[in-house]
Amino acid sequence: MAEILPSIFGADILRLKEEIAFLESEKTKILHVDMMDGNFVSNIAFGPNQIAAMKKMSNMIFDVHMMIDHPKDHLDDVIATGAEMISVHYESTPHIHNMIQRIKKAGRKAGIVLNPGTPESVIKYLLDDIDYVLVMTINPGTPGQTFIEKSIEKVCNLKEMIGSRPIQIEVDGGINNLIAGRVANIGVDLIVVGGYLFGENPKERYHKLREAVNKERK
Ligand code: ZN
Repeated sequence: MAEILPSIFGADILRLKEEIAFLESEKTKILHVDMMDGNFVSNIAFGPNQIAAMKKMSNMIFDVHMMIDHPKDHLDDVIATGAEMISVHYESTPHIHNMIQRIKKAGRKAGIVLNPGTPESVIKYLLDDIDYVLVMTINPGTPGQTFIEKSIEKVCNLKEMIGSRPIQIEVDGGINNLIAGRVANIGVDLIVVGGYLFGENPKERYHKLREAVNKERK
């Protein structure tokens, strides 16, 4: 069954502790953390120090999504936060294979992230090394955009490429309860939800999301 991954970037920064407590009370398994440097994407958010502080007061698995230039210079700091899952944008480095190697060597799950304009074929020679592929379903860095429909085709193509390998597919951007149901239905394993979840009445929205995911995948 597909898993909902709340993105802490969508939470109320002044109530982070309460927001994390809420997510834990809802039995969230994996927390998605967006790291942004103001260069690779225009926003700036969550450096290694902040991630480590959140990790310390949480029992959730941390999935750190590195949206930064020169990831090679910051990877060790991200590993030091204790994050169990770390993903790097294909577009952010000429040495994606080496980045994956370093994440795996540290004993963490390694993910590769694809921007909307990047074809899925770029992961062909990484299929035996990665644990998950994160498909950006909006352009990274700015929340509040609309889900890009072409992502559905990309996920289906990825499913075919992956075959029986133990590689999970994750989607990130523009997800509400309706889209969560649709992507669960085509076999997405990890569904990142930000703004939609932390809007009005998050408890009700969280339940709606889970209901949509359960209903679609039988
Ligand atoms: Zn993300």
